[in-house]
Amino acid sequence: MHIVSRFAPSPTGLLHLGHAYSCLLAHRHARSHDGGFLLRIEDIDPGRARAEFVDEIIDDLLWLGVTWDGEIVFQSERLPLYADALSRLKAAGLVYPCFCTRSTIAAEIAASAAAPHGPDGPIYPGTCRRLPAEERARRRALEPHAWRLDTEAALARTGPLYWHDGETEVLAEPQAFGDVVLARKDAPTSYHLAVTVDDAAQGVTDIVRGRDLYAATDIHRLLQALLDLPTPLYHHHPLLTDADGRRLAKRNGAPTLADLRRGGADPARLAADLLDGRLPAGYSSMGP
Ligand code: GLU
Repeated sequence: MHIVSRFAPSPTGLLHLGHAYSCLLAHRHARSHDGGFLLRIEDIDPGRARAEFVDEIIDDLLWLGVTWDGEIVFQSERLPLYADALSRLKAAGLVYPCFCTRSTIAAEIAASAAAPHGPDGPIYPGTCRRLPAEERARRRALEPHAWRLDTEAALARTGPLYWHDGETEVLAEPQAFGDVVLARKDAPTSYHLAVTVDDAAQGVTDIVRGRDLYAATDIHRLLQALLDLPTPLYHHHPLLTDADGRRLAKRNGAPTLADLRRGGADPARLAADLLDGRLPAGYSSMGP
């Protein structure tokens, strides 16, 4: 089979070595199989995505020797595709409008005796799922709202679902996340919906990405089943950490690729070292 892989950064900051590692692994996976490699900019967050980060990301990847096929795809230019997927889920009765604010959700969670936690923190208590149809329709016309997936109802519709992480078959347990947001109040989609729609639309066969997105794959698998989309093969890699075992992040002082580039680092050597698992001093790799 012709393999197609991708790198899909969110331009909400500068890339660091962890991004370089992830991108290089995905790139090698595709190219070593004579496959295609795509670059997709996940710029759906209107408050945080910035054009200058896109420019830096492109310069970083070219500097590292990464080559991609075809045009760069920008999620902000594909909103109708996500709206279409959402309307199919609306027609299937599997999503509902949510009028809650962060603070009403936090207050409800604080007031409940047992607040279940999922991989991303406390799960949404389902307030708007229980609204009477009449109130829902009235408020929908008047109030800003997000759209949430009724995850239990969706799973009941699909039955048990599985995906592959490399050779390992994984049972999807998206219910652990509760009713995830598929369209935000401030954006007509969300990460989960856009990533699932685009990977299918772009013919991505193999997703190589960090272990931090392992659990989220359960949601993507559910959305694939609901939208009749193919399931790619996943390969979640360990995350790079600093010497204290902390994930790389700007706030932890991790140098950006732009710093390294401007500081005259040798990109070919850096790329070869990362791919061979030789990490620069002060870094280690975490997880299985
Ligand atoms: N845009 C996501 C991020 O930067 C990655 C999406 C993915 O690889 O599925 O974290």
